Amino acid sequence: MLFEKINYLDEDFLVQRDAYIEIEDDRIKGISKKAPSGYQGERLSGENKLLMPGFANAHCHVPMTLLRGFGEGLPLQRWLTEKVFPFEDLLTDEDSYWGSLLGIAELLASGCVSFSDMYMNLPGIIKAVEESGIRANLAHGCSAPGRDPDFEDTNAYQGTKALFDHLREYPDSKIRPELALHAEYTSNENTAKTLLNFAKDRQLRVQIHVSETQKEHEEGKKRRGKTPLRYLYDLGFFEVPLILAHCIWLEDSDLALLKEACGKGADITLVHNPSSNLKLASGFANLKGWEEAGVNIAIGTDGASSNNNLDMLEEVNLASLVQKGITLDPSFMGPEKTFRYATQGGFLAQGIKHSGLIKEGMKADLVVFDLDDYATVPQHDLAANALYAAGRQNIFLTMVDGKILYKEGQFFSLDIEKVKAEVNRIAAEKKAILNGRG
Ligand SMILES: [Zn+2]
Repeated sequence: MLFEKINYLDEDFLVQRDAYIEIEDDRIKGISKKAPSGYQGERLSGENKLLMPGFANAHCHVPMTLLRGFGEGLPLQRWLTEKVFPFEDLLTDEDSYWGSLLGIAELLASGCVSFSDMYMNLPGIIKAVEESGIRANLAHGCSAPGRDPDFEDTNAYQGTKALFDHLREYPDSKIRPELALHAEYTSNENTAKTLLNFAKDRQLRVQIHVSETQKEHEEGKKRRGKTPLRYLYDLGFFEVPLILAHCIWLEDSDLALLKEACGKGADITLVHNPSSNLKLASGFANLKGWEEAGVNIAIGTDGASSNNNLDMLEEVNLASLVQKGITLDPSFMGPEKTFRYATQGGFLAQGIKHSGLIKEGMKADLVVFDLDDYATVPQHDLAANALYAAGRQNIFLTMVDGKILYKEGQFFSLDIEKVKAEVNRIAAEKKAILNGRG
């Protein structure tokens, strides 16, 4: 594939115009000002288009599309205990397969090429990821509230084993295994420690929800006598690569701890999830503080039950706007920084260095915007148009590993009408069961 005379975001996330970008197999083979001589393959006109690295969604629960709009308006605890948990208890691997496919469709259609996920019913998620062709780092969320089993005695261990079994059978898979400690408040020390030992033994990255709400943060301090982040640090979690979601209520002492650890080479990502944080009224992340701490920063949608969509472009837009608003600084989180966090930042969170930049030799994991649209003319500033004016309708194509998985509204690796029908069937079935009980 040769993109002819296309505009693109370079390694500094600055717009370069009218380049020839050649894709060969799964890689970006060449970027030049002149057409490569003797090129024989497929050509695509870059007129009015902008090519950039595809988004890497660093925090998601992809099958939760099945719960979109279910139990709206309830306070967090009632929503979880009366709606979410009873619904989730009914889910099978087959349900999670269809829910995941629906979520992956939304991700692809919004320019996302990779995601990190924490959920359960992993066999269904694995099947959906493999069929769709998207990249994913998958983990089974480990929680054991009110108990303290070894990690090896949890459902999360069983889910992790299923994932390892799959990867032994399919060593070329684009899935990468991770572990996930759901949160400080849903587990105790022994479970956390044995999970950490498992991660160390197998060199796995660990996802954790940290200080998402004020209530959770303050109760954690009472329970442990220290902040949730300090609790994790004292258990030894900073010795493995960490992906920490939300982190809204981190204190200055937490940021100082992160700064010290990152200064010594700790591999820590903090993930900003603005839609979910706004919708659940959790608060605002302090990205300026995160930057000063020197952590890697990424952006994530969280699940569709609290977002309520998996539109990564919308999330990236919101991340920029929210941070400008709370810092009162219009120059903060412009396109260069925001797009870097949403692409390279997400890939670094996943431990992937071969994606996230438009550069020769990198993987062809990319998105192309069509900016010839009433909402995106004139083209004074293509990057600003992509970030602030464009919507999902401007995503022209999404390419993963050199393959076009989505183009001009069409999915090439999934049957979207069938997926919609199955998700509607599953949602109606679960609701009928739950209503029958009530
Ligand atoms: Zn989450």
